Order: sequence, then C-alpha cells, then structure tokens
Amino acid sequence: MSMLARARAELVALTPYPSARRSGLLAPIRLDANESPWDDDAGGMLNRYPDPQPPLLRERLAALYGVTAPQLWLGRGSDEAIDLLLRAFCRAGCDNVVGLAPSFGMYRIGATVQGVEFRAHALAAADGFALDAGALLAQVDAATKLVFLCSPNNPSGTLYHAQIADLARALAGRAVLVVDEAYIEFADVPSAAALVAAHANLAVLRTLSKAHGLAGARVGALIAQADIVDLVARIAPPYPLPTPSVAAALAALEPPALARTRERCALLVRERERVREALAGGDGIERVWPSAGNFLLLRCADAAAGFARLLAAGILVRDFSSQPGLDACLRVSIGTREHNDALLAALARGRR
Ligand SMILES: *Cc1c(COP(=O)(O)O)cnc(C)c1O
Repeated sequence: MSMLARARAELVALTPYPSARRSGLLAPIRLDANESPWDDDAGGMLNRYPDPQPPLLRERLAALYGVTAPQLWLGRGSDEAIDLLLRAFCRAGCDNVVGLAPSFGMYRIGATVQGVEFRAHALAAADGFALDAGALLAQVDAATKLVFLCSPNNPSGTLYHAQIADLARALAGRAVLVVDEAYIEFADVPSAAALVAAHANLAVLRTLSKAHGLAGARVGALIAQADIVDLVARIAPPYPLPTPSVAAALAALEPPALARTRERCALLVRERERVREALAGGDGIERVWPSAGNFLLLRCADAAAGFARLLAAGILVRDFSSQPGLDACLRVSIGTREHNDALLAALARGRR
C-alpha cells in the first residue's frame, strides 16, 4: 500500500512549481529563468540556477547507499528532509508523531513548527537506552503519521538496527518509520537503506555532514520508495542544493576521498573505544555508555564542574544535564588523537 494515502491530500494533489531547471530542457541561449547572462566565475555557472536534483550526484549517492536514484531525494542536510516529511504527512492541529527521548532535537522542533504533537517515547539510561518496541507502538494511534528512530541514537549512541524491520512491518499502512542514520558510518551494522525496497513505509536519512566531513556544505539524503521521494521533491523549494555544495559533494565521492573517509571513520572508532576505556571507571565519571557513533555520552559526578573544567582547558563539549533522563550527562565528540588526549588530560587533572 502506498503511504501517500497517509500524506496530506492537498499536497498529493498539488501541481509543483514549474521551475526553469525542472523541465530538463537546455539550449545554448538561456532566457528562461531571469538569471544574469554573465558567468563571472568562468564556467563555475554561479549565475545559473542549479539542477534541482543533480543527476550525477544522485547517481553517485544512490550507488554509495546501495539504492536506486528514484529512491533518493537530496536536500540541505537531513534537517531539511525531516522538515519536509513532517510537512508532507502531518496536518497541523490533528496529527502526531512519535520519537525517542532522549534523541536528536530537530524531530520535536520540526513537529512543533508544523503544529503537530510530538509524543516522546522515554528511554531509560539505566537500561542502556534499550527500546521496548511494544511500548513505543502503544503510543501510536490513528493520528500518528511518522515515527522517528535515530540509530545510532544521538546522544546515547545506541543502535536499534535489529528492530527496524519489525517496527516497519508493525506500522505498515499507518505511519512512516523515519530512520535517521546520520552516524551509521561509525557503526558496524548495515544501513536500513537495504530495507527500503521491501517496506513502503520506511524512510532512511543519510548525510554527508558527519563521516564525510561536509557539515558546512549541507548535503543530506532521504531514501524511500519513489512515491514518498516524489512527494517530498514536489513540495521542496525549487533549488535545494547550492552549486558549490554539489561540487564539494561530488569531490567527496571520488574514490580516493571515499577511501580517506573510510580510514578516518575507522580511526574515529578506534579513538572512541580508547577514550571510552580511559574514561570508564575514572574518578568523577560514573558511567560511559557504549556508542556506535563518533561521540560518547558520559555521566559525571558533577557535570557542571566537568563542563567548566573542560572549557577552561579550551575544550567545548555538550551539556545534556538539563534534559529529562540525562542528569549529569555530557556528550563528547571524538576528535583527533591530540584533541582526545587533551580531553582525557583535562578530566584527569580534575580528579587529582
Ligand atoms: C547531525 C545530525 C543530523 C543533521 O544532519 P544534516 O545532514 O547536517 O542536516 C541529523 N540527524 C542527527 C541524529 C544528527 O545528529
């Protein structure tokens, strides 16, 4: 069953904005888009609107993620895909979405901006942030359109990959399961992108922001069956991808750059485990959770003191201690070996 039956009917029926580049027509003299005729950066084409979905980038990313080009929509980071999915499926004041807590904050913010109730499914730190799928499904009702599952979860680092197929099946025809895999490159499990062909209600978010080192370029992908991809493409602003970002993304997908990315991911994973072992059981550190991302969540005896000590040493980390269920917790990104040594030294100094 197509999930478009659960999308906003007025958007399914909407005729998209007929942008100049969308027609696919090209000619040597282009007087169709009110652009400037002068290409001042000599071939860089910044005077021209970009292709809404550059075919080469779409092809390269589809190959990288093991899906087909029609199953992929590219936008300004996964943040834009989160926003567009909320807008495509959820009617303000009627519908709701379900998501984990703690998890990435943009699901709740996007829902609130759209006027949609966000139902938090609380995970317990004491249980290692394990997901009770039955309890989560009990929060889903007839007005639930999307269920957000971040895996590896930010900020807990927890993987939920083994529960994705069952959850998608349980939600079939009712809600889209949106699996945010911003950190999947740091985990040693396969991406849920491989499940999209079998599940009409599964959407997977991938990004070049983390493992590929392109947070500043703002390039992310929504992977889903073509009906969902087409709906999102139809309601998206006409030119989501700036030309310099497309060039940066294509460069990052050349084989040598991909090889470097794989090496760096492996290095960050080794560093993550080194830092985790060095921190675990240390004075002033009550717990370090296992992580499948490029970050660690730790509970300190005194998070404010730990945060301040790190800041005094010139190291900024994220203080989550005011969030429900994350008392005294800090999240530390894994940096270079030197960055991580500085972190460990600053924390050890405080323990003496
Ligand atoms: C960083 C992050 C994102 C944002 O990705 P962009 O592609 O940069 O928008 C999405 N989801 C999670 C869980 C993140 O931590």
